[in-house]
Amino acid sequence: MNLSTPLTTAGRVYKMYAKRLEKLGITTMGDFLLHIPNRYDDFSLGSKISEVQPGEVVTIQGEVLEIKNEFTKRYKKLQKAKVQDDTGILDVLWFNQTYLTSAIHVGDRISLSGRVEQNGRTLMLVAPTYEILDINGKGIHTGRLVPIYPETAGISSKWIRRQVYILLHDYKEELEEYLPENTREHLHLYDYYHALFQIHFPDTLGDAQKAKERLAFDEVFLLQIAAKLRRAEWQQKLKGQSFNVIKFEKKIQDFFEKLPFILTNAQKRAIEEIFQDLAKDKPMNRLLEGDVGSGKTIVGAAAMYLAHLNGFQSLLMAPTQILAQQHYVTIKNLLEPLGVRVDLVTGSKKTGEYLVSNIPYLVKDKKNKIQNTKYQILNTNILIGTHALLSKKVNLDKLGIVIIDEQQRFGVEQRAIIREKGNNPHLLTMTATPIPRTVALSLYGDLDLSILDEMPKGRLPVKTWLVPPQKRNGAYEWIEKQVKEGNQIFIVCPFIEESENMTTVKAATVEFERLKTKVFPHLRLTILHGRMKGKEKDQVLEDFRNKKYDILVATPVVEVGIDIPNTTVILVEAADRFGLSQLHQLRGRVGRGDKQSYCLLFTESKSPETTMRLKAMETMHNGAALAELDLQMRGAGELYGTLQHGNHWLKIASFGDFTLIEKAKQEAQKIFPQLSKYPLLQKKVEEINIKQVNPD
Ligand code: ADP
Ligand code: MG
Repeated sequence: MNLSTPLTTAGRVYKMYAKRLEKLGITTMGDFLLHIPNRYDDFSLGSKISEVQPGEVVTIQGEVLEIKNEFTKRYKKLQKAKVQDDTGILDVLWFNQTYLTSAIHVGDRISLSGRVEQNGRTLMLVAPTYEILDINGKGIHTGRLVPIYPETAGISSKWIRRQVYILLHDYKEELEEYLPENTREHLHLYDYYHALFQIHFPDTLGDAQKAKERLAFDEVFLLQIAAKLRRAEWQQKLKGQSFNVIKFEKKIQDFFEKLPFILTNAQKRAIEEIFQDLAKDKPMNRLLEGDVGSGKTIVGAAAMYLAHLNGFQSLLMAPTQILAQQHYVTIKNLLEPLGVRVDLVTGSKKTGEYLVSNIPYLVKDKKNKIQNTKYQILNTNILIGTHALLSKKVNLDKLGIVIIDEQQRFGVEQRAIIREKGNNPHLLTMTATPIPRTVALSLYGDLDLSILDEMPKGRLPVKTWLVPPQKRNGAYEWIEKQVKEGNQIFIVCPFIEESENMTTVKAATVEFERLKTKVFPHLRLTILHGRMKGKEKDQVLEDFRNKKYDILVATPVVEVGIDIPNTTVILVEAADRFGLSQLHQLRGRVGRGDKQSYCLLFTESKSPETTMRLKAMETMHNGAALAELDLQMRGAGELYGTLQHGNHWLKIASFGDFTLIEKAKQEAQKIFPQLSKYPLLQKKVEEINIKQVNPD
């Protein structure tokens, strides 16, 4: 076993807890060490025995002089001990904990926290918590700054603390310094092991802070070097397909003119940047970032159309089946009239079958081996689907460009797989996640960046209201009126747990029944959740799109990208459980047409801070600004949560820390080309790149 051993293959206890620990982002033994305390309890102030007063809660440390069981007449079992420090002796009493006499021994150095009581003429410490100290007289749970960690059901800080302590002890050798000495000295950074130790078991809060600085630096620094490495490889090795842009300028222009709207300047600029890349014989590697509703799809469509005109095929990958289906409809409508053939790949995990536009393509046998290929996809021009497209069997001969939508859901990882498809296709990733430009450039250093910083004209901001509990019924009445006027409504159920597990689904179902029978008995309601089969989901959405229903009740994790312009109201339950960025994403589901749209945020929370945070949604309509605010009010964890679910992103450093990012960038520049001079650093960077390529 070492620090990279996955918990699932570590000891029995780890295996048992692996699922829970995963929720905390701990999947390997080493991850424990990067599970950073969110605060420290200060138990460092102890009392001397001679100073304790009756009625006081104290921590004392001393040597055990005596410990024994006593049985009273009424069959009670008492454990009595005497503990001595250099100022005196104190009696200690516990009730009915006979195991203590085998856990605590005469001669042990012990730390006790509890209440002092008067017992006749002597003082006595009653039922204290105890901890046996190590030879240095140091404990980990008492008598010091004690780390308190992010916890989850069944995993306590005390348990985590113990694991961390053992690992720090057992793997000291493995935790070697890998930063170049120059860097470390220049920035006055703690030594690696010292930093790891002090962040968990600091001597002072100042040490904890210094430790955090060191580890935050590492995180950003390593990411930057890793990105530089990928970029260098990309630029050296790869030769791609150069597309002719000038030859097809007229056709592209015609395509734009036939659109029912005029492109925004931001869209035009992004398309230009992309076309410049596509004209080169190096494969493009570009990130298109734009707020929800800024019109990324059409930009992607233009790139795929250019590929087609040049005789190349395209892949468009969406994070979910529903989004793939939706893109399929959109792209088909846009490009089929121009003679482009568009196909949709759907796959079923259960049967292992892939369908291309409803015709079986790949069929897996019982052993999950791919049996035969019944359908030729060689003739398709644009193939749309989910990660099923990454399957080795989905191969296009003339693949020219791959587009990944909602990139944050995929992570950076799949790029390596895509690179192997076709002959170094161009790559465009699209995301609504507002990563500040400087951050994106330095952390995703291997990507070029285009930003849609302008909304289509005539878009009305979504009117947003925070609705207190006493106005709930009024809001329901108002919604009914909206429906009578021909509008459709989304209702997002409370956020129970991050994953779409049965608890979430059950809660959604209960809420759905309540709404259907009690609140809106005269309206037509339907429900959508992640546990439904692909076909069922498609059906629900199609029916909703065709106005067979008035209200769609959905779980929160469902489908950020749904585009149904007739929906003008979105109601979010338990809004306080979401980050502002997430709420903004949800709000982006409405206001996509030219009708005035509304977002109602329900909360039962009475905390003024929560109210203030949610109130910001009423006045702020810019995704990046809301993300910044989230960062300030809830810490990087939130942004991190929405950004990189389960991916290897910043755990310690913050996106908002531009100074740190700049510093790390400068240091990375000093070192980068001579990476081989620092073998330990090189190894660390390679681990990161491997991790990114093979996520868990
Ligand atoms: P997102 O960036 O969130 O993926 P979409 O590409 O889904 O946004 O576009 C949102 C909606 O805006 C779509 O209905 C699309 O047809 C429309 N749209 C895109 N560009 C423009 C534009 N320049 N003017 C008006 N509407 C546009
Ligand atoms: Mg989109």
